[in-house]
Amino acid sequence: MPIEPQGYPLYVCKFGEPDPSKPSILIETQIHGNEPLGTEAVVNVMQNLIAGGQEARFILENVTVWIMPRVNPDGAMNQRDGQWYPKRQSDQTWVPEEIGLPSDTRAPWYYSSRNGGYDLNRDSSPNLDFRIENLADYGLTPSEFATLYLDDRDYNNSEYDGYYVTPEARIVTKVYKELQPDVFIDIHHRGFNTLTDDDIRQVYIQVAADVALPYTDPFTGDYYSVDPEVLTLAKQVNATGWLSLQLGNSAFGSIQKYPEVNLPGTTLGAFALNDTAIMLIEIAGQTQNLGQKARGRLIKTATDPLMAILKALADGSIHDVDPAIYDAIPESSNSIRDPSARDE
Ligand SMILES: [Zn+2]
Repeated sequence: MPIEPQGYPLYVCKFGEPDPSKPSILIETQIHGNEPLGTEAVVNVMQNLIAGGQEARFILENVTVWIMPRVNPDGAMNQRDGQWYPKRQSDQTWVPEEIGLPSDTRAPWYYSSRNGGYDLNRDSSPNLDFRIENLADYGLTPSEFATLYLDDRDYNNSEYDGYYVTPEARIVTKVYKELQPDVFIDIHHRGFNTLTDDDIRQVYIQVAADVALPYTDPFTGDYYSVDPEVLTLAKQVNATGWLSLQLGNSAFGSIQKYPEVNLPGTTLGAFALNDTAIMLIEIAGQTQNLGQKARGRLIKTATDPLMAILKALADGSIHDVDPAIYDAIPESSNSIRDPSARDE
């Protein structure tokens, strides 16, 4: 029996409506169902903003803040043998004939038949309007698309975009297009290492301002690249987050840059290529292994940068931050890996 999406709603929490006179930010969490601490961090942010007070009022008067928490509820609520067992993927079986493709069409490379769903964070595209039901717009029949793209390993791989086969990726992109945010932040988890070979503090988070090389859409021929000014703002956003955690030599300050990647099918990659400054936050570890105290610390390492970035967007000081601060953040060393953790 094919697994269908479970029908959980996706939520967007809107503080304000799109307003060209104000900076805007969209924050997404838990597109990988087994990476929940970002969701807890944004719940803290929402509570801070709702609580009132001078700082919250100042932020809300000056910034449009939209938050999409837990965009993979199927993965987050997954059960195995009657026990809660969150997974990375969504719930959705590849059934090509249901979307008008030949029944033997190969699944997109980010589909896991073992886990019964998609890596939702590979299902986006810099071509935000690509939809399989509109193949005729690109002069393709369904069987041509199947043969030329999905059945061809040279196209159906991580160097290329996703195909918007999941409702979740379509919904996130719809919200993105509605807000057209200046800044987009996506929060994940991954297994970690020490800061550098000399500084053996555990790394609490990794960040990235840049995850996509220039991209040519195979369907339209359109060329996408990250605008230099957008990249500068992305570095300033990441640097602002980094600065908020530099409190003496505490573990909170041990932050690395995420390894260099090219992922045009991620929400971060697709949106960066559409003129939004991005920040990836990867929180250390897999939740199944964490104690309560560690959880609290790790949630704070995402909450504090988010609040600092909102403040800096509200008062405009984000534009005064030196982007070289971002460039100087240590690169990922990967000297200790948690074998239980998957990348991102
Ligand atoms: Zn992730």
